[in-house]
Amino acid sequence: RQVIELEGVAKRYDSTGTPVLGPLTLSVGQGEALAVTGPSGSGKSTLLNLVAGLDKPTEGAVFVAGRRIDRLGEHALATFRRRHIGIAFQFFNLLDDLTVADNIRLPAQLTGVGRRKAAARAEELMEMLGIQRHARAYPGRLSGGERQRVGVARALVNWPALLLADEPTGALDSAAGHDVRDLLTDLHRAGQTLVLVTHDPALAEACASRTIHLVDGRLTRDTCARGVR
Ligand code: ADP
Ligand code: ADP
Repeated sequence: RQVIELEGVAKRYDSTGTPVLGPLTLSVGQGEALAVTGPSGSGKSTLLNLVAGLDKPTEGAVFVAGRRIDRLGEHALATFRRRHIGIAFQFFNLLDDLTVADNIRLPAQLTGVGRRKAAARAEELMEMLGIQRHARAYPGRLSGGERQRVGVARALVNWPALLLADEPTGALDSAAGHDVRDLLTDLHRAGQTLVLVTHDPALAEACASRTIHLVDGRLTRDTCARGVR
């Protein structure tokens, strides 16, 4: 089963210019951990934003979990995203006036999951991510690595078909970066489908089953890790 299907997807900002991404056809199957690498400006964030439904392609079709999302309106997209896509991007900021536990529970409550079920899921994720002792703390008191984990927990609270992470170790020191790397590896082992954008080849190698490389918006390499997939 394919979790992501891009069919002839291209993105242009200038109708006459060359696309900043694509045209690109790409499928990502259930359980794959895809790393997207490439130099700055190569289109990595654009690709992630299209898959997240945060941006619309100029051409082509974007399917996530079997649903075509590039024609959905804002409201339908927001609902779809909350249910099916976990987004751990740096600009998806945590809410500073909610506790860690409340931040993690929030997307579940917004989709109508009951309070107790949401609380139980948040507990389970905090335990899995090793942030349980911070449950009642406010995000402002945590380190960068801990905040990153809270962001990942929040992204996973609704059991998304797909987890998207943009430079998940980018703002972290090397110890915290290692923790996040281990976390992504664990999630992949547990069967979570994920796409992570990184310009760090070591991160891609450590936690991805497949790596695609973009240069000037075009796919120049698509490789599977040995023994995986
Ligand atoms: P990466 O994530 O690999 O650094 P991006 O996807 O952010 O690359 O950007 C790809 C190209 O698209 C770059 O040349 C960038 O300058 C351009 N770009 C990104 N966003 C916009 C925008 N909103 N308007 C115009 N050009 C943009
Ligand atoms: P990243 O490497 O994560 O893509 P960038 O510095 O390339 O970070 O881009 C940061 C933000 O600026 C992105 O949201 C991107 O869409 C926007 N951006 C990048 N290039 C341009 C551009 N030429 N014009 C307008 N917006 C841009």
